[in-house]
Amino acid sequence: MTPLHKKIISNIQESGSITVDEYISIALYTPDLGYYAKDHIIGRSGDFITSPEICQIFGELIGIFMIDQVTSAQPVERLDIIECGPGRGTLMHDILHTLEFYPDIFEKTHIHLVEISPSAKKQQAQTLEQYNHVYWYKTLEDVPFSSGYTFVLANEFFDALPIKQYYEKDGDIRERKVKLDQHNNLCFDVPDDAAHFTEICPLYEKIIHNINERLTRGPGSLLIIDYGDDAANRNKNTLQGVCDHQFADIFESPGLVDISHQVNFQSLRELIAPNIIIYPLITQSEFLNQLGIDLRLQQLLQNATAKQRMELLTACARLTAPQHMGEIFKVLYAQSR
Ligand code: SAH
Repeated sequence: MTPLHKKIISNIQESGSITVDEYISIALYTPDLGYYAKDHIIGRSGDFITSPEICQIFGELIGIFMIDQVTSAQPVERLDIIECGPGRGTLMHDILHTLEFYPDIFEKTHIHLVEISPSAKKQQAQTLEQYNHVYWYKTLEDVPFSSGYTFVLANEFFDALPIKQYYEKDGDIRERKVKLDQHNNLCFDVPDDAAHFTEICPLYEKIIHNINERLTRGPGSLLIIDYGDDAANRNKNTLQGVCDHQFADIFESPGLVDISHQVNFQSLRELIAPNIIIYPLITQSEFLNQLGIDLRLQQLLQNATAKQRMELLTACARLTAPQHMGEIFKVLYAQSR
């Protein structure tokens, strides 16, 4: 049993039960013991792999997209890129590598990384060591407002935030809790198929409101890429545990297992201020195809060895194929007027 597991059990013994978001927050964020204190959570040697870790083309295309969006409106005096949950820093690295081809913009770019995990921050600092003007913050509210263009980016960030779950019983809406069974094992108080099951992520509101303010005060964009869907009331439990590239019980080894949920894009969209333009939700495959993933792939294949060719083809298929990340992952893009 992990030390955090023991701590959670004694906590519940005192209080009787804790809410689902309390459980997730403790499991992920407890200093030194929580999941985000763990080294190497992303990548082959970690627990899960993300799009930027699969292939450099992902970040390069986002860099191109950014240049296109930022320059389409007015001359750029300054560009502030805010990335929420930058993982190993790979996405930002590939974006900056692309921006370097546009020195006018690159010289005016400042990078703001919102990261809660000290070990992830260390990793990001290593990945981005050749770049200047890179700053870290624990929350989005801490990032100063930009006097220029703000580009907010979040890949697989919203899915990692703690959620609350609710259900209906005897005509009342009740909050689902985590408790102990008669053997002192962690369990839910009601099963996944409880009536009118809903999930709410309180941090969606806090974060989107902050972005609204940034995109209202000045020009800016918001790009969210994550797995989930657009259905209003999905009526299902989407919590998922992952450890060592396999699904895992979220109550097994708290602190060692990643806990995430499927992002409710409809809720995110409803929170975006009416003065901001929201583009229709598209799949990751549509997004990458529109940005010319095939063209970039062909370019890279020309100078690749046989082994690299194989790797590149497999990676692009993983990013775009419907049975892999192509359709499960969605892209939400919004822009100030
Ligand atoms: N965007 C990266 C990593 C995704 S994993 C990629 O695509 O590879 C989620 C990231 O969000 C991790 O870096 C994690 O440490 C960070 N994170 C999770 N919860 C957070 C929170 N509440 N505030 C800030 N960062 C958080």
